Amino acid sequence: MRTKTMKLEGKVALVTGSSQGIGQAIAIRLAQEGASVVINYRSHPEGAEATLAQVKAAGGKCHMVDGFTLQGDTGSLADVQRLVSESVDHFGQLDILVNNAGIEKNADFWNVTEADYDAVMNVNLKGIFFAIQAFVQHCMAVSHPGKVINISSVHEELPFPHFAAYCASKGALKMLTRNLSVELAPLGITINNVAPGAIETPINTKLLNDPTKLNALLQNIPLKRLGQPADVAAMVAFLASADADYVTGTTLFVDGGLLWNYQEQ
Ligand code: NAD
Repeated sequence: MRTKTMKLEGKVALVTGSSQGIGQAIAIRLAQEGASVVINYRSHPEGAEATLAQVKAAGGKCHMVDGFTLQGDTGSLADVQRLVSESVDHFGQLDILVNNAGIEKNADFWNVTEADYDAVMNVNLKGIFFAIQAFVQHCMAVSHPGKVINISSVHEELPFPHFAAYCASKGALKMLTRNLSVELAPLGITINNVAPGAIETPINTKLLNDPTKLNALLQNIPLKRLGQPADVAAMVAFLASADADYVTGTTLFVDGGLLWNYQEQ
């Protein structure tokens, strides 16, 4: 019976950028596991509302499962602090922080503008840094353990030419997670990265519409398919659960084997 397998009953999770793509799938999966979810969006309330409807449906008979949508730009320090505080105000607790929101900008390195560099770093690194800080301050204030899960990328390891700022941000996120795993362990807070490979989401619309590039990519994926948002969400659900209590400071890859099958063209 489903109630027996619910791993996150009574927990509250904040999932950034959950109006579409991987974040949406994470919000729904955490709700299926019994968590209440704060659904963050920057500029698409309709997407967030769609997530909320599915979160409520996913909760099914578990009346504990609830959710609400919360606007906020995760590239803004003030906004990430507000996201954490409003989540706590609404539910009276916050147990799980999933830093999913992320952006990428495609340009030759020699043409990258300061504005694009800042945009990527603000969302993919600075906002995450301070969201974790606000979450940790909350956990400390209530003497409660917590779980932080960052959605990184295979590009925390693997070069991605023409996406230098993106790779720099994800590489930094790897080191941030390693560092904080040591510093936060005495507080009972675990922190891990989930690193997706090529997942079928709107961030990859251009690639998905280019059969030549798509086929070349599929050749590099040992499991010979793109990942689905639900593949990533399953790993997040594991890391958010007590099953992963002894897992911290690491990166778990969800990439169909892509990372270790890179071949020179
Ligand atoms: P997506 O573009 O479909 O979704 C990203 C979400 O983040 C959107 O809902 C967007 O509104 C939100 N977002 C962006 N900037 C924001 C901001 N400033 N404030 C609040 N929300 C913001 O992309 P996705 O594929 O679902 O990506 C989710 C995460 O997974 C990202 O961190 C991305 O780097 C990572 N990732 C994706 C893939 C992939 O192949 N799709 C691969 C590796 C890593």
